[in-house]
Amino acid sequence: MAAENSPRGKGDTADPRPHLLALLPDEMELRLQEHMAARGQPTYRVGQVTEWIYRHLATSFDEMTNLPVAEREALERAFRIGQPETHTVSRSADGTVKHLWRMADGELVESVLIPAGDRLTLCLSSQAGCAMGCTFCATGWGGFGRQLTIDEIVTQYRSSARWLEENGREPITNVVFMGMGEPLANRKAVHPALTVLNQGFGLGARRITVSTVGVIPGIRELAVRPEQFGLALSLHSPVEELRAQLIPLEKRYPLPRLLEALREFRDAGGRRITFEYTMIRDVNDAPELAPLLAEQARELGAFVNLIPFNPIPDQDWLPSRPDRIEHFRRTLDEAGVSAAVREPRGRDIDAACGQLRANALVQIEGRPRPRAGRTVVT
Ligand code: SF4
Repeated sequence: MAAENSPRGKGDTADPRPHLLALLPDEMELRLQEHMAARGQPTYRVGQVTEWIYRHLATSFDEMTNLPVAEREALERAFRIGQPETHTVSRSADGTVKHLWRMADGELVESVLIPAGDRLTLCLSSQAGCAMGCTFCATGWGGFGRQLTIDEIVTQYRSSARWLEENGREPITNVVFMGMGEPLANRKAVHPALTVLNQGFGLGARRITVSTVGVIPGIRELAVRPEQFGLALSLHSPVEELRAQLIPLEKRYPLPRLLEALREFRDAGGRRITFEYTMIRDVNDAPELAPLLAEQARELGAFVNLIPFNPIPDQDWLPSRPDRIEHFRRTLDEAGVSAAVREPRGRDIDAACGQLRANALVQIEGRPRPRAGRTVVT
């Protein structure tokens, strides 16, 4: 793993106190039990603290008003539960809300809240930037910063949930690891973060989806977990040569091996597979590709999201024309594959993955970081 930093570590390396959201729920309980026992406190104090953290989304010990002040101060000396600073909040006319968070070391990370019908999906980031260098993605354009730690991933959820509460909005129903970064290239932090979201914050595993450009060892690890987390594969082409032009990782994990790993994931039972297919005009929308995509999706029982390309800076590609998108949708439908056309959300707020951060980096540093050209995989 490149740019390695401990998943329990932090950008703020000066602070030795463990962040409670970097601990698995049972580990956190144990640490709090030890802490309370050492202070001669009754065991029910542990339940009070965990309730404040997971149920009331507390971001400081001061908020824990049913604990004595001395105990709040003792907790503050022993642990952290803080959150990253809000750099920017952008609201789209379509209801999409994008947060840009500044981590303790200054790294910028995005998360996006996307309302759709009775769902409110949080798209969160697993890395500051990304090293995968996919040609259609603004995150690659913004360069790779570092891996995010467990608490830096989980606090995106908690901060977003709090923001919704404070703004009188409905709660998060679904989480997708589809923001900045390749989550399966940061598995040391992403696996525990999945557990914290599921067991700690009580978000059902089937409401959490991990999106990957195709890190096969990560897909296999996810398949053997007992929880039924969903998996989304950024496919973008059913043909190896074309896919390799869009996603450099294709050269390392070619499509036939990737599809084999997805079969294993499917055979693990009860898990949903989604194909993400960004439709780029005259790049990956040739009519003859549609039946190949349909066959791959049908065999795996995958749902297909057809996503018109969201233009990004430094790239003159355009979204596919509506008739091409409709041709793909109809071909999938005729093959018995469930599919949906997903309009890009939040176009008015730079909501293409990584775009807000890339623009902020231009403002902060005067220019974008060099485009990522290397592949970082654990
Ligand atoms: S599409 Fe995903 S994996 Fe590819 S560069 Fe963007 S964030 Fe990274």
